[in-house]
Amino acid sequence: MLKSRAFSDGIYVTQPLLPDLAEFQDKLAEIWASKRLTNMGDQHELLEEQLKERLSVPYLVLFNNGTSALLAALQALDLTGEVITTPFTFAATPHALALRQIKPVFCDIDEQTLTLDPEQIEQLITPRTTAILGVHVYGTPCDVIRIQEIADRHGLKVIYDGAHAFQSAINGQAIGNFGDVTMFSFHATKLFHTVEGGALAFRDPALLSRIKQLRNFGIVHEELVAEVGFNGKLNEIQAAMGLLVLDKLDLERERRAYIRKLYEEFLKNVPGITIVENIGASMLSQQYFVIRIHPDEFGASRDDVYCVLKDHNVHARKYFYPLCSNFPCYAHLPSAAPQRLPVANKVAEQVLSLPFYGDLRVDQVSEICEIIIRSGRDCGAT
Ligand SMILES: *Cc1c(COP(=O)(O)O)cnc(C)c1O
Repeated sequence: MLKSRAFSDGIYVTQPLLPDLAEFQDKLAEIWASKRLTNMGDQHELLEEQLKERLSVPYLVLFNNGTSALLAALQALDLTGEVITTPFTFAATPHALALRQIKPVFCDIDEQTLTLDPEQIEQLITPRTTAILGVHVYGTPCDVIRIQEIADRHGLKVIYDGAHAFQSAINGQAIGNFGDVTMFSFHATKLFHTVEGGALAFRDPALLSRIKQLRNFGIVHEELVAEVGFNGKLNEIQAAMGLLVLDKLDLERERRAYIRKLYEEFLKNVPGITIVENIGASMLSQQYFVIRIHPDEFGASRDDVYCVLKDHNVHARKYFYPLCSNFPCYAHLPSAAPQRLPVANKVAEQVLSLPFYGDLRVDQVSEICEIIIRSGRDCGAT
């Protein structure tokens, strides 16, 4: 059977923010003239300064990607043993722990915020626990107050994966000011990007030299390598990209806010579909637009909707299915058992990230929503 193709060019979940090519060429000319391509050059230093300001954090260190930034954070905080984290995240979160020989201990999520459920954290703490690693998933802030209380009570560090939370805030306070360290990812699929890139934000000045040292092979100076570090450096060309993307960011956020409103208008009264809100965020990161599909009420499952959209050349994403706790590399852990993570396992079957970027047109949003609504009716009728 020939399937209708509403969109001749595929529509994807996101589209990277691209600066004007001519502006990028000017930047390249600057870099050529400097004869400096990496190792904390002018573009790098300027971007670090501007991001520190943009994210309203006291300290910020750039990295070549979010995963290496997270690895450096775990090492800089001397974490070992076990770290409590969420299964409802991208692979990089538990992988960073495992790569540091730390055992991820999965904790269920809150049904509404989809972030770590503070009620469930304490029972997972053992003498080997050294930290809590929360994820501000889709830009929804973790319950930072209660997580900090628990951490203080048990002498644990707190790290946040803020890969989705660029410029998110809680009661007007910028998201990078909670916990010991917050990681940001600047991958091309993220709202702000440097093609590949990342950063750590933190408040403790004592961490600054250690984190910078880890980023550069553990080198202290020309004749002293103090510890086992790695190459986590962002190069000049990517830093230049970041500087230009930063100029485009406010407009992109406005456009995404408008697209979000449109989606909400079309989908808010559809039985069996709920829109994932960034509960507790005083400012939205505008990273994703996510719905939850409740098949009994809607008449079709998330997977049905995903497939129908795909038949129309619309490529939504099931972020975050499968759960990290169900990956073959973690499924054997006692904390990964599905019966211990009922909310996360349920939610992972419901969520769908819809195409969300500033250049998405009104007619495209409306057509995507029509396809979704029709898929519920068609499947429900059979
Ligand atoms: C993108 C992402 C990362 C990893 O970032 P990279 O820059 O690709 O290494 C980590 N955690 C989450 C939740 C992400 O979405």
